[in-house]
Amino acid sequence: MSAHRAAPPSPEAQLQWLNKLQRLFSEGDFTATYKFALLIALADLAVEKGTDDGEPLALTFREIATNFVELYWQQTVPYVGLNRPHPQVLVAADSGAEHTLALHQSNGRQAAVVSAIAAFRRLNPGLSLATLRVDDGGPFRPLIGEVARTVAAQPARYLQNLAGQADRFLYEPVVGGLCLLPGVAYCLRRFQPLVQQLARNGWVRQIKAISQNARLLGETDDLEAFLFDTPRQALDQIGAELRKLCKSQCFYCGGRVHEADVDHFVPFSLYPRDLMHNFVLAHPACNRSKSDTLAALPHLERWREYIDRHDDDLREIGDTVGRPADATSSLAVARWGYGNGASGGARAWLRSMEYVPVTPAYLTVL
Ligand SMILES: [Zn+2]
Repeated sequence: MSAHRAAPPSPEAQLQWLNKLQRLFSEGDFTATYKFALLIALADLAVEKGTDDGEPLALTFREIATNFVELYWQQTVPYVGLNRPHPQVLVAADSGAEHTLALHQSNGRQAAVVSAIAAFRRLNPGLSLATLRVDDGGPFRPLIGEVARTVAAQPARYLQNLAGQADRFLYEPVVGGLCLLPGVAYCLRRFQPLVQQLARNGWVRQIKAISQNARLLGETDDLEAFLFDTPRQALDQIGAELRKLCKSQCFYCGGRVHEADVDHFVPFSLYPRDLMHNFVLAHPACNRSKSDTLAALPHLERWREYIDRHDDDLREIGDTVGRPADATSSLAVARWGYGNGASGGARAWLRSMEYVPVTPAYLTVL
């Protein structure tokens, strides 16, 4: 590590940055949902690859495009509401025909990224996201390249326009990608849940504002869950597989589960991206009691052991249910979550109604 690393931004600089971010949502020009996807991708990558000092962070368009593919993947299936089963057919999102059921992500023509993913899925019906990050994209490589070109030509070029004026407060262009300015990765890590929520709300609003979607949306109000959550069916499948893997034992209390919940070990409210290694089996009561808090040290130690011991199994389950499985990313997310917790004075859940402070010692486990 270099001896001259940049210091974290001052509290005042962080406030200024938040102010700009807020302006981006109120004054930015959003005709497609790409800019929201780009913000979410940058925030995710800052958590996975950034550090807690003020260093700049260079990202390639291919890395960003890989996150785009993951984000838009489930949005290319027809929108039918989460409580009804998903039809297995994929509809041509750009066909313009009456039967188009995928949500429009852009005014006018369907967004190119969505059309590209939909076409790719029709050509590769058996392929799931599980292999997206293996072997530099493997079969996904051409798709990632195509999406990377769109990211470079559109949202990366226009995201930082505020009220019609370019204001580079997030990144500057570099060959083949962009570089987060000093302090930006820090802010994205620090304010992750806020950035995610702002971007998701903006995304949902944008989808609702696109006139072609009015007919599809109707009265349902599960749009945010459809856009961003793991589909119910996949969660049920994950639950069934984890039950076998964990011999129907609750991850937290060790008791036998009859009815089982699938719990996000690092809470979904902190980091809303479903990585297979972050799922554990739990009693509904344990799950509810833990709620949106981090788990205490004994659980963290057990989780570390769990993802090491079951890495292959978890990858396999990810393969079966089509969710991304990557121990390295999950560990980076946990390191970030507990690091924030320790510096922010968070309390961790030990058991029902019992909380303990998160200390830097937690990080030695990770
Ligand atoms: Zn339990």
